[in-house]
Amino acid sequence: MTEALHTCPCCGFPTLEARAVFDICEICWWEDDGQDAPYADEVWAGPNKDYSLTMARQNFLAHRHMYDAGEGIDVVEFPDANRLALLAYVNKVLDREVGLDPKRLGQLLSMPQSPHRPMPRSSP
Ligand SMILES: [Zn+2]
Repeated sequence: MTEALHTCPCCGFPTLEARAVFDICEICWWEDDGQDAPYADEVWAGPNKDYSLTMARQNFLAHRHMYDAGEGIDVVEFPDANRLALLAYVNKVLDREVGLDPKRLGQLLSMPQSPHRPMPRSSP
């Protein structure tokens, strides 16, 4: 049996093994530097750069990662099949189509994610 995970302060999913130890949430990609309410509007810089937690939360609700649209790291801008499967599940939970199943989420989170850049078109 696995330990219960802690809730990410950005996306609200249980993805963190501990709080405030700079774990990175593999759903929204927020790095947990301990920021949370009541400091959500502050920009702490550090691993989350120019994003306040409030901004990151709004970005997550808009497009499922903490960064501004088009400004994310490669793994979120060029999602691979594992990330797409994870996000499909996250969307179902957020849309209340399914209840959150920590075991299912854990399986999806255990799959490695790597940027899936489109292949450059080769000339004929
Ligand atoms: Zn998160």
